[in-house]
Amino acid sequence: MNKYLEALDDVAALAYDHGCISVEGVIARDEHVILLQELVDRATPTKIVLSPFHDVLSDQTAYIIQCPSCKYGLGVTMHKVGTYFENYLEGHRDIKFCSDCGKALDWSKDDE
Ligand SMILES: [Zn+2]
Repeated sequence: MNKYLEALDDVAALAYDHGCISVEGVIARDEHVILLQELVDRATPTKIVLSPFHDVLSDQTAYIIQCPSCKYGLGVTMHKVGTYFENYLEGHRDIKFCSDCGKALDWSKDDE
């Protein structure tokens, strides 16, 4: 559980710990929960997306590696499996966040 999710849980639990004393208080709490949920979603690593396309120059299927949130292009690979692809993923693991939208990225293989 990351620190943002812990904060979200704490805020969500406040009204239940101390009782809901006003409609305004509940509305404010719910607005905070919605904002924090956006942060939790952005900070939670999500698997990168591999979108296939036909590479005309090599006459092979290639893959655009995309951000799972905004579909920003993070790279291109000619392989989806095998040592080359595993090395490609390993070489990009230091890219923790999408440079376009800030989404946390998961570069792990499917079996990790
Ligand atoms: Zn993105």
